Formats: sequence, C-alpha cells, structure tokens
Amino acid sequence: MQKNNSNIKAKKDELNKLMSAENSKYSKVRQDIVSHEKTVKEQVEKYFKELINKLDHSHTTVLKLVKSDLNAISIFSNQTEDKINQVQDFIGISNATDFFKEVNMMQKCTEIQEPKIKPIYGFSKKIVPGNITQLNIGSLQDDGNLSAETNISLVINNEYQTELGIIALIISREEIGLHREELDFTNIKCDEHAGQSSCLYCNTCDVLVCPTCIAKVHKKHDLIEISDAYKLKVEGLKRGQSKMQKSNSNMKAKR
Ligand SMILES: [Zn+2]
Ligand SMILES: [Zn+2]
Repeated sequence: MQKNNSNIKAKKDELNKLMSAENSKYSKVRQDIVSHEKTVKEQVEKYFKELINKLDHSHTTVLKLVKSDLNAISIFSNQTEDKINQVQDFIGISNATDFFKEVNMMQKCTEIQEPKIKPIYGFSKKIVPGNITQLNIGSLQDDGNLSAETNISLVINNEYQTELGIIALIISREEIGLHREELDFTNIKCDEHAGQSSCLYCNTCDVLVCPTCIAKVHKKHDLIEISDAYKLKVEGLKRGQSKMQKSNSNMKAKR
C-alpha cells in the first residue's frame, strides 16, 4: 500500500515535470513561430518593394527614351517644315539675280539629317509570379513530443504588363505648287566683270557667265541657257522639298 502510494506519487511528479517541460517547449516554439513570421513578412515586403522599384525604374527609363525621341522628331519636323516653306518662298522669287545668287545655298539647305530613333525601348516588363510553400518558409516538424502540421499556400495570379501603343502621327501636306512669274534673265550683271551682263549659265562650275567669263575660263564647259538653268534649279529645289516632306512623314510615322 505504502509502496503503491509512493509509486503513484513518483508518476505524478514525473507527469508534472513533463507538463512543465511541455509548456516551456510550447512557449519557445510559439515564440519562434511568431518571430519567424515577422522575419518572413519583412522579407516578403522588402522583396515586393524591390520588384516595384525595379518596375518603376524601367518604366521611367523607357518613358524617358520615348519622350526624348518624340522631342527629336518634333524638332526635326518643325525645322523641316520651316525649310520647306523657306524653299517654297524662294522658288517664288521674282528677281533672277537674287535667284542665282542664293540658289546653290538654298539647295544645300534641303539636305537634311534625320534624327536616329532607338529601335528597341525595352517595353513589356511582366511579373512571373512565384509560389510560396512551406518548403521555403518552414513547417512544424514532429519532435517526438509535439506534432503539428501547417500548410501555407499563397499563389499570386495577377499579371502586370505595360504596353505602350505605337504612336503614329502622319501629316499630309498639300502638294506644293509652283507659282511662276516670268523672270527677266536679260539683265543679270556679271559679278566678275563690271559693265557686262551674264548671257549663259556654266553647268560645270554652277555659275552665271558673261562673254568675258566664257572667253577666259568657261570656253569648253557645259554652257546652257539661263532660263534652262533656272528650270533645272527649280526642279532640284522641288525634289529637295519632296524629299524633306517624305522624310518628315517617315519620322512622324515612327513610334
Ligand atoms: Zn564675267
Ligand atoms: Zn565653267
């Protein structure tokens, strides 16, 4: 009876000890879970912040590139339109002397350089969502005394994708016509020889020439009538104009 009693007491003590050990282990594991939860949440939050930062950065870069190209196109377009108008005004000039004085310079001004547009901007970032599983955030495992299982499954299904549409700007300009007034080609003074009038145009040297000029320098050159030279020059200017127009439309049609 006595021995039985002390056996039971010993058993009771042992169970009490177990209970207290179990309690302190429980508290510790619970504490660990809470602290791990905090860490994981912080890491996840940090990771998503990084993702958003990266996306914002790439978006800003793309927009900057596109805007700078749009700006270049717009500057190019304005300059080209100015030149087209300038050439158009020039074609309408009514003084033959002034026409031949500036025609070569004018022709040069129709030679334009298109701005370089980036072929690829790097659009279309998208998120490829990943899974969060107990494998990479941890789980409760049987320790002999305590057993529990937790499933954590988080799936992100939303996709985010930026897509800037293609910006197409096409302008149509009226066909530029030539309003022709009859120019007087009979009284163009020679630049080189006072008192002399230019009688022909040297196609080889691109200058008006008087009889003295011809005798001294241009005798064997390609000499043409001044009115024919005028026609050729106007045609050249009109070709330059339509080239600028085409170039301008091409530019505007880009992105
Ligand atoms: Zn001369
Ligand atoms: Zn010549």
